[in-house]
Amino acid sequence: MPSAYKRILLKLSGEALMGDDKYGINRDVVEHIVVEIAEACQLGVEVAIVVGGGNIFRGMKSAGDGMDRVTADYMGMLATIMNALALQDAMRRKGLISRVQSALRIDQVVEPYIRNKAIRYLEEGKVVIFAAGTGNPFFTTDTAAALRGMEVNADVVLKATKVDGIYSSDPKINSNATRYHHLSFDEAIIENLQVMDATALTLCRDQKLPINVFSIFKSGALMRILMGKDEGTLVSN
Ligand code: UDP
Repeated sequence: MPSAYKRILLKLSGEALMGDDKYGINRDVVEHIVVEIAEACQLGVEVAIVVGGGNIFRGMKSAGDGMDRVTADYMGMLATIMNALALQDAMRRKGLISRVQSALRIDQVVEPYIRNKAIRYLEEGKVVIFAAGTGNPFFTTDTAAALRGMEVNADVVLKATKVDGIYSSDPKINSNATRYHHLSFDEAIIENLQVMDATALTLCRDQKLPINVFSIFKSGALMRILMGKDEGTLVSN
């Protein structure tokens, strides 16, 4: 069965890479994610990834503790490069070929972001991991996911979280919370549902790039989305 999407932009937050640990990269979790990605690749889906960094460093939090915000944000972006390298290495161990492209230049370690090259890699069936967010302080990797998704003409942004979609309230606190199957961008923005920041949502809304929020920890969830099944929450126009 062919995939509903030819090219996807998968957003992996730092929290997703951390699993139940308090900090850093959980090897088992990363290996599980790689298996899910490999299945998508076997289906012929082109996979671009934006990785977060919150499992290592979050700029806003450190700025709140008195650190200069721009310095803290650069540290956050560097954290995403560490995650990208860990993910690339896990992929290599599984036999998946990937390339890391960074929005900040550290040429000895990763190649810089070059859109045409990224698109060529995707066409060749390589996974492309975008690191260092947008390369600018005051932004988030969610916004980078929206931006890179638009730049590489992805059909959808798949936001992997620990929860299997967007709920009316926090399901961990409220047992009556219900999962939204579908939301419009305006509903997601107005209700401030904490799914993605408003900048990312507005970008996706304006470029008509749908977002599917799903749990990366639910086995086969990524595959079900690719098969066009109702999984998580779809945010679209
Ligand atoms: N960051 C930034 N500009 C960007 C993307 C990220 O300054 O374009 C910094 C910011 O400090 C952020 C950190 O990198 O806190 C990690 O990114 P994010 O919080 O989006 O990661 P996630 O929540 O997905 O783990």
